[in-house]
Amino acid sequence: MIHSPLLPHLAGYINDRWISADAGKRQDVVNPATGEKLADVPVMGAAETRRAIASAKRALATPADAATRRRWLTAIRDALLEQQQEIGRILCLEHGKPWKEAQGEVQYAASFFDYYAPLAETATAPETLPGKVKDCIWTLYKRPVGVVGLITPWNFPIAMIAKKIAPALAAGCPSLIKPAPDTPLTMIALFQIMADRLDLPKGMVNLVMGDAAQIGGELMHSPDVAMVSFTGSTAVGRLLMQQASPRVKRLGLELGGNAPFIVLDDADLDAAADGLMINKFRGAGQTCVCANRVYVQRGVYDAFAQKLVERVSKLKVGDGMKDGTDIGPLINANGYAKVKGHLADALDKGATLLTGKQPDALNAGDGLFFTPAVIGNVDDTMQCCQEETFGPLIPLISFTDDDEVIRRANDTEFGLAAYVFGKDRARSHRIIAQLHFGHCAYNTGTGPAAIAPFGGMLSSGLGREGGREGLMEYIEVQTVPDGSH
Ligand code: ADP
Repeated sequence: MIHSPLLPHLAGYINDRWISADAGKRQDVVNPATGEKLADVPVMGAAETRRAIASAKRALATPADAATRRRWLTAIRDALLEQQQEIGRILCLEHGKPWKEAQGEVQYAASFFDYYAPLAETATAPETLPGKVKDCIWTLYKRPVGVVGLITPWNFPIAMIAKKIAPALAAGCPSLIKPAPDTPLTMIALFQIMADRLDLPKGMVNLVMGDAAQIGGELMHSPDVAMVSFTGSTAVGRLLMQQASPRVKRLGLELGGNAPFIVLDDADLDAAADGLMINKFRGAGQTCVCANRVYVQRGVYDAFAQKLVERVSKLKVGDGMKDGTDIGPLINANGYAKVKGHLADALDKGATLLTGKQPDALNAGDGLFFTPAVIGNVDDTMQCCQEETFGPLIPLISFTDDDEVIRRANDTEFGLAAYVFGKDRARSHRIIAQLHFGHCAYNTGTGPAAIAPFGGMLSSGLGREGGREGLMEYIEVQTVPDGSH
């Protein structure tokens, strides 16, 4: 069991009060590294969601001024940094990621509050357009869209909510937040911080957890919820779009990816291998931005494969709480089965295992720890290239020229992240210009940052998180032409 000063309440939070499920039902939260129960949390449903929406609606009626909203954000940033160790510990225990990564995630989350704090004042101020048009002076008023529903996944339990709640609070939107069932404890800790440290109006932030379909259904059908921001699977994203249509509800969707990582023949191969290691193995490969298909130009394929195998075979898999762990466990048995299935499918279809374990040898007493694998001789028809693997498996695919790799990299319905490594900047940027991915990194494996808008093209989603664009998702612009001058 987990004991933490940030978790005196294992409960939801509605209208400024810690709340259990109406029916009293609870579910276990398990440490994926050890299989031990950490805690149990309420399983809430439609009725609690309706109450949370009503309380958020009341908060909307008493808006806070911009300076107050800015203060909220800086207070959360400061509290996250002060409590970094403890939040990181909770995160590490319920998610399994290595201690250092968990600590880094808390800092990353704090960077969103830091970035949006001043924008709470400047970006929401009315804006008068220069000159007169149609004999009017035009002013744009920036209003909060209204009550928002924020649904998050388990892979970044604190960062994913930071990307949503920081701009929501900056814009003045009350929210109802639903964490993923595997990782609700980090979210409860964040609510404890907000309850302790902030003077938020009643109902400004609400926490509801439990039956996803019921909670999601209420959020989508309620006329009092203006927008839902969701990060998760494409399947659920599609469902939410259907449910949004009757009310033409605003949606922010950050869905699946199938990221190509392209190594050109003029690339610095060590830099590319190092970039791939950081990119791929963060969160044990359970991130939507991590490389899913690694395309290596034929002339450097063998050399790159060797450098990669050297690095991957040294990785230490283990409990994220232990010193020296590079990769933690996968989140649950379904996640494990998917990665193993992709490995088996590729080997059956002719791929070769360059490092890692054969599928038959996996999971024998390993719990959820998956031995990182690199496979060569991969082609695009294999499952690991068609779907997001979400685990520590790197497929290497060789290609001949730039046109071919552009065509193959783009041969997916997804468009979230891509990576290009090559020394000739003009050549690499010609490639980037033709890739349909929202985040296209050059000579780095880095993911998003608070200052930059991040989001997917095509089936990877709608809207942006981070940057000014991420704030505008929560703002309704009202245009007022004034003819009285
Ligand atoms: P994953 O497969 O990575 O768990 P999901 O899309 O299932 O991705 O989950 C992401 C988030 O969406 C979680 O908080 C989950 O509980 C929630 N979710 C799942 N189904 C629904 C639904 N029908 N409506 C709203 N949220 C949902």
